[in-house]
Amino acid sequence: MKKTFKFYIALWGAKFISELLTAVKRNASFMPGKIALAICPDFMGMIEKPEKVIAVTGTNGKTTVSNLLIDALEQCGYTTLNNRIGSNVNAGIASSLLNGADLLGRTTKNVAVLEIDERSSKKVYPYIKPDYILCTNIFRDSIKRNAHTDFIVDIINSAIPKESKLILNADDLICCSIGPENKEKVYFGIDKLKTDTQESNNLSRDIRTCPICDSKLKYEYVHYHHIGKAYCPNCSFKSPEIDYLGANLDIENCIIEVKTKHGKTNYKLISNNIINIYNMVAAIAVLSEFGISSGKIKDVFYDFSIVETRYKEEQMDDKRVVMYLAKGQNAIACSRTFDYIKQAEGKKAVMLNLDDYFDAKESTENMAWIYDADYELLNDESIKQIIIGGVRAKDHYLRLLIAGVPEEKISFEQKEVDAVKHLKLDEINKIFILYDVYTVQTAEKVKAKIKEKIQKG
Ligand SMILES: [Zn+2]
Repeated sequence: MKKTFKFYIALWGAKFISELLTAVKRNASFMPGKIALAICPDFMGMIEKPEKVIAVTGTNGKTTVSNLLIDALEQCGYTTLNNRIGSNVNAGIASSLLNGADLLGRTTKNVAVLEIDERSSKKVYPYIKPDYILCTNIFRDSIKRNAHTDFIVDIINSAIPKESKLILNADDLICCSIGPENKEKVYFGIDKLKTDTQESNNLSRDIRTCPICDSKLKYEYVHYHHIGKAYCPNCSFKSPEIDYLGANLDIENCIIEVKTKHGKTNYKLISNNIINIYNMVAAIAVLSEFGISSGKIKDVFYDFSIVETRYKEEQMDDKRVVMYLAKGQNAIACSRTFDYIKQAEGKKAVMLNLDDYFDAKESTENMAWIYDADYELLNDESIKQIIIGGVRAKDHYLRLLIAGVPEEKISFEQKEVDAVKHLKLDEINKIFILYDVYTVQTAEKVKAKIKEKIQKG
């Protein structure tokens, strides 16, 4: 797109606002882009982009994979333009492009790594044609925003540039339905694991039948939810062949092998959590496609580790207290957390504080998601107490009863902090505090109250 006079006004105006916000120590990752787009709606098309553009989209793992790619590329000597500290919707992306350009709108970096919100596809892809688009996975997410996986896939497919090379999760058949007209596609995935099942045990399985003949899909193995190797017993539909296959996972020695048609390479694991192992294999696939050798990726990844910001452990006397961000309204994220708690060692209590106050002032408006989340995983012998706090405590209480959790194990209070009084310390040695993105401060108060209680004995 040819730069217009309006473009330069938008560029200079937004750069000025960006400098001003930075000077007063305000977040400049959204507003400058918003202003630029308001002045010149085609701003993203006119500004020069780096020579190579990598886009990262999908429900879960976008930020983690983008960070891995940025760090790896920079260690390989590239300068990256990215929206790491910014927002992943169009105004955030416009802000990042603005920061990576000079006063004439020329790019100053050689690679762009852009995290792109699925719902922003229609506003971004008409202007930015990535060389590579990675889709990590597609799951149902908060219902009010994302409705259904078909709705999200339709949005992406209506805008995705056909010339981009797609890097897709072979173990996720919904993700595989992205870009039906794109000619260039490669797939990553993870081989059968010891913990796999033959059928999904999870309530929410976003694809259950063959998209061609509607027969019930069968699995060679399921990792979790709808993620695994599937086939249709009635027609030729099946999971695609995998170009980057994570195999022979060795958690104890922190090693994973990645097999490609060129051979296999052992990488040091950067996390022992399956979700992040997927993120790692996805990043290896992107970097390889970008042209970086497996030896170089191996070296760079050797020093990486994924900091579990969502997970914090603390010893208080003889009790282990674990803070765990569970993401309310996201049934998959909660189910993964519940599964982790079930598998964890010890005699456990769970402080369930999953209400958020995002969409209604003193309440969570939509509770439908709790019927998609596997509360059944909390019905386990090793979980001795479940203590619910929050305005919608009774909803969670009912859900736990439906999951078969014995009534005597559950207690609830409308205020999270008040709920701590129900904790019976003599029965347990580990306490999980589950909380939401919007209730970090409440969770900290709950933790402080627990500490007080433990110290009093
Ligand atoms: Zn079929």
